[in-house]
Amino acid sequence: MSEINIYRGNIVFSKTEKELAEYWDSYIVVEDGIVEGIYERVPERFFGVPVRDFGNGVIIPAFSDLHTHAPQYPQRGLKTDALLKEWLGKYTFPLEGRFVEAEFAGAVYDAFVEDLIKCGTMHVVTFGTIHEQATGMLIEKLEKKGIRAYVGKVNMDENSPAYLCEKTEESLRITERYLERYCSNRWAKPILTPRFAPTCSRDLLVGLGKLAKKYGVGMQTHLVESLWEKKEAVRLFPDCSCDTEVYEKAGLYGYGPLVGAHFIFPSEEDIRILKKYSGYAVQCPEATVNVIAGIMPTASLLERGVKLGLGSDVAAGQSLAVFDQVAKSVQLSKIKSFYEPENKVVSFAQAFFMATKQGGSLFGKTGSFEKGYAFDALVIGGLSDDFAPLSPLETVERFCCAGNADNIRVRFLRGDEIG
Ligand SMILES: [Zn+2]
Repeated sequence: MSEINIYRGNIVFSKTEKELAEYWDSYIVVEDGIVEGIYERVPERFFGVPVRDFGNGVIIPAFSDLHTHAPQYPQRGLKTDALLKEWLGKYTFPLEGRFVEAEFAGAVYDAFVEDLIKCGTMHVVTFGTIHEQATGMLIEKLEKKGIRAYVGKVNMDENSPAYLCEKTEESLRITERYLERYCSNRWAKPILTPRFAPTCSRDLLVGLGKLAKKYGVGMQTHLVESLWEKKEAVRLFPDCSCDTEVYEKAGLYGYGPLVGAHFIFPSEEDIRILKKYSGYAVQCPEATVNVIAGIMPTASLLERGVKLGLGSDVAAGQSLAVFDQVAKSVQLSKIKSFYEPENKVVSFAQAFFMATKQGGSLFGKTGSFEKGYAFDALVIGGLSDDFAPLSPLETVERFCCAGNADNIRVRFLRGDEIG
């Protein structure tokens, strides 16, 4: 016997990149945690099933965060006046070095997972650190909560401080052990995570490519994140024409999801290769403003059919709230468009699509309420003024632009209420 649940309220979700579906005062039927349909009236076959009424609340899909760093959580909202190179060397690497201590790692990762859920993020791609035990704790905590995730043990064997610089062989050995241990996880899966080209030797990347093939896993990294990194990648790997090719040549693509964070300065070759492997590029608007100082050509990439998601990129970004990134993605596109008019302004619908339906597609059928999608959902409220009531669509826009996690009244994960 399947379990049926019916919820009444206003409903908003992305139908396509440019179109948001808006249902006033409707019923969403959920069967075994999966969306069965949306109706104006309860269909006869469901008569007798109790209806949970959310009144003026708006039911929206839960968010997907395609790029963040769980170990940097203690540093969110701090050290934001430094730029990338200084920020890494002076603050961020020393913090990551502390994840050799299991007790510290456990406490940070508990707080990270709790805040993630509080912010309405039910799907996440995250970096760990180089540390096997700490990263194991992170993936186990996400698996236990049933959060769909890709979690990476970071690899770095060059141009890194001594306390984070691995020996190539050892890095590969530990990574293989990590994959063996967790690749049969149901929800939180391992993903290969070379930090970025400047901190990885060719031998390390080629070794990771072999592991990708052997275990059928994907990879995440930072791609064309800054002009410095873009130049450094081709200087260190002179047989490659661009940053994205470095990992292709090492045999890392094609075995699982490909996630490239930032993608701010892509060349035609970067775009061609990412598209060839159906990779996702991730815009992280807060991080861009805080430590990177470049703006992704988001509208142009969307136009060209590149898959885009949004990322909180804590601690370069100050908040785990992906809904904040939706608003900032639109804002940044206006600045980009002002200085480079060939880049169009990103619409609210497009930014919401990146944060839900398109970002969610990395994890399977999540991020929408079309039939067959997982009911990973949030009920938001408390955003209307008595003197000027909002439509469901306006409620969602105000939530992303001026709301906070307290506006999330109820959270569902595959039909179960959580948080
Ligand atoms: Zn990052």
